[in-house]
Amino acid sequence: MRYAETGYNLEIDLSRGNIERVETDPKLTELHLGGLGTNAKVLWDRVAPETEPFSPDNLLIFSAGLLCGTPAPGANRTIVTTYSPQTLLMGYSMMGGFWAPELKHAGYDKVIIRGKSPNLVYLSINNDKVEIRDASHFHGKGAGETADLIRQELKEPRAQVAAIGLAGENRVYFASIEHGRSSASRQGIGAVMGDKGIKAIAVRGTKDINIARPAEFIKLCNEVLKYIQHRQNNPVPGVMPILAVLGSPQEMKLVDEEWHTQNFMWGNARERKKDYWNKEIEEKWKETQENVRKRLISCYNCPVQCAATISVPGLSTYMMKCFSKLTYTMAAFSDLDFGFRIAQRATEYGVDGYSTPQVMAFAIELYEAGILTDQNMPGMPSDNEGRFYWLLDRIVRREGIGDVLANGTYWAARQIGKGAEAYAHNTIKKHEQLPLKLGMLNPIYFLMYSTGEKINITQIEGQFPQAPFPAKEEREEFVKDWIQVPDEKFKKYFLDWEPRGERSMPYYPTVEMCCEIVDWMERMHYIDDALGMCAGLSSFPLKPPYHIHNYPAFISSATGIDMDEAGLTQVTKRNRTLLRAVNVRRGLRRADEKPPEDHWKKRFPELEAKLLDEYYKFKGWDNQGIPTKKSLRELGMDYVSEDFEQRGIIKNEQGEEESQGHQDRC
Ligand code: SF4
Repeated sequence: MRYAETGYNLEIDLSRGNIERVETDPKLTELHLGGLGTNAKVLWDRVAPETEPFSPDNLLIFSAGLLCGTPAPGANRTIVTTYSPQTLLMGYSMMGGFWAPELKHAGYDKVIIRGKSPNLVYLSINNDKVEIRDASHFHGKGAGETADLIRQELKEPRAQVAAIGLAGENRVYFASIEHGRSSASRQGIGAVMGDKGIKAIAVRGTKDINIARPAEFIKLCNEVLKYIQHRQNNPVPGVMPILAVLGSPQEMKLVDEEWHTQNFMWGNARERKKDYWNKEIEEKWKETQENVRKRLISCYNCPVQCAATISVPGLSTYMMKCFSKLTYTMAAFSDLDFGFRIAQRATEYGVDGYSTPQVMAFAIELYEAGILTDQNMPGMPSDNEGRFYWLLDRIVRREGIGDVLANGTYWAARQIGKGAEAYAHNTIKKHEQLPLKLGMLNPIYFLMYSTGEKINITQIEGQFPQAPFPAKEEREEFVKDWIQVPDEKFKKYFLDWEPRGERSMPYYPTVEMCCEIVDWMERMHYIDDALGMCAGLSSFPLKPPYHIHNYPAFISSATGIDMDEAGLTQVTKRNRTLLRAVNVRRGLRRADEKPPEDHWKKRFPELEAKLLDEYYKFKGWDNQGIPTKKSLRELGMDYVSEDFEQRGIIKNEQGEEESQGHQDRC
């Protein structure tokens, strides 16, 4: 019997119209757990690195994490993986909500899609009955509207539906997959779904999921629920409200936006408005938010309620959470009311709430700089809000200049030329990032941003505070109940961290400490993404209920796999290295590993080079960020080094000496 997982994947070949239920290898679960880990293995094994994102040979994998559907609170993430049209690297984007648990209850861990359908279709998965159904009548429909229509058509009101809107159908590089209660937005996952000709996947499942040692598992779940309650009632003192509790930033509850509006950038990540916030705006925004916010909602099996249903008069209801509340407002130099209105249209179109506003603000900047002209923008309104709607409509339809902008700022700038590249300045690995510009280089986040395979600065934050606390007493108080640290030394690093002086950024934490801190924070993300756990209850907040000390017991009691902290660390190291290997095979090298140029005003090139040198060494990678033969062998991944050798990425028997050679050349 298989525990926690179902032991079956659904394999769909759209070119042939073929559907197969395939038993999976339990050994892979021991090596990679599930979710992102096994997705990376499937991609490594089955998609040649030369494959274009829009090739029928590219796979689109929807995976439930290993613990999804079990009673573990917050285990509900779907991890969608493919080659991204925007970064050209392995893209993975996660959505919460209810889709992944439903898939597990239907009897599957993953849906692996290959080929392309000649006509628009949708998949209907209802336990053992799986169909590829015609979706031509949904062409051009909004993502939420499509989900409603499919539930009606199937007469299955409880089906969980993940759908694309017009943007995905038209292969907009920042198209999202929407699921009503969440979305997989980053890296153009929705464009690949559209390219394959799938409008939606509807899932309904009623089967049980087996747990190896139920009594032990439920006890652990209850402890987590108790801790969530405790943390929500006792916010961490001394940090911003969004970091003090659990979940994703509680933007649907918070109304005080002084910090965001005065510290984040407006427009295309260019301009700060230091005196924006005042009493009048606070009251107006509070009223706006309270008028449109109908209900706070949670994902499957979670009490935290990070999201809300938003209902703007005259528009259909949609879900919002997190910082997308402000991305459109601030990009358009507008008002919160505008942000809520345009986000409804954008959600139906199915576009990423971080990239899209920046792409539009980028277009307006180019227009104002004379790089784009009236000829490129015929009929564009003169007011900012009108311009944003005008641009959004053209981007999702790929009409006129919208066809160029639909490729995102990096690619659009290169197509437009005439100096447009200078305006596409807020990307990492060709992907737009949160418009945040700071003063002093933060060495921890320099490494996280530069090297993170998630390529998304809003989803890689971690359990080590982002800045030192001013007073020693505050730090001492903070470490008292800091049970999540994997090692006591992290408490000392934090206690000694000062806002000014010798032990301050950028030289403290030291390079060695930064490597260890980043490794810890990454480890937690890789565990979450394999288990399908919400980062908001684990890797993201400062003092979460899940951590390296209780995760092994969760995994063991759920799956029956013998797991301890060392074993779990080894699995995450393997998954981390495999993702790196997939991207190395796609051409990723050290030169690609950098944050947006002006993310920090004060930069330290020598220190940054040293940080990368030492971090690569710490990870067992060479000076180009390529895993060495030795480290691959330790992880049981000789198959990767053999492949690297065949492709000339590392050379023959002397792989490691060759890697050393890279260091000298750098
Ligand atoms: S913490 Fe928030 S985002 Fe995470 S599962 Fe719960 S409701 Fe969803």
